[in-house]
Amino acid sequence: MAATAFTVLIDPGHGGDDTGAKSKMTGSEKQILEKDLALSISKKVYDKLKPFHSVYLTRSIDRNVTLKERSELAEKIKADIFVSIHLNSAPSKDSNGVEIYYLDNHNDVAVKKVENLENIIVAGEEQQINHILTDLIIQQTVDQSKLLASSLDTSIKKGVVIKHKMKNRGVRPGLFYVLALAKRPGVLIEVGFISNQEELKKLQTESFQTDMSNAIVEGILKFSRAQKKPKVSLF
Ligand SMILES: [Zn+2]
Repeated sequence: MAATAFTVLIDPGHGGDDTGAKSKMTGSEKQILEKDLALSISKKVYDKLKPFHSVYLTRSIDRNVTLKERSELAEKIKADIFVSIHLNSAPSKDSNGVEIYYLDNHNDVAVKKVENLENIIVAGEEQQINHILTDLIIQQTVDQSKLLASSLDTSIKKGVVIKHKMKNRGVRPGLFYVLALAKRPGVLIEVGFISNQEELKKLQTESFQTDMSNAIVEGILKFSRAQKKPKVSLF
């Protein structure tokens, strides 16, 4: 089987006018933006995954990408999985840790807060998601998305959480437009909180970004190896 039999779309959150969450180190005036850290980690994942799979980025530079463009690319390249990379932010400066979301319905109040942040539609883009369609997409993708999330959770626990003394907030169901519109098994990873000073310091280091990207690659590879089905030809 060729190395390109499995296609992965890596989605660095936000971009361009949409900065995502922002924060500053105490005593510094420099704004640190979610869109920049998400892109940096995503590019590392892309480079490391390239020898194994057919892999694409929804953006490789700092530019606006609409939800529609992200989902159209997933369709065009026939992505097997969609992996969106984000950074978390919370009003409480103490909140910290890694969370992995897969698309599903839920009633979790804490999760709704994260959804509110990540589901902000960039000006000019219409909300194009409807509930019936979302339910159908969930039905078709939830089992695979959960497996992918769990595989990533294991590799992130092993490669990042212990070494960088981070909290593992685990795997959670969430209703994110970007996952619904991608219409394929996918996850949204919140790699850490930029609103937490101690964590913000770690998130900017080469060491954290390398370990996190390695862990994401390992989680994807473990998932994709388990997916390999024998090719059966009927004719
Ligand atoms: Zn985000």
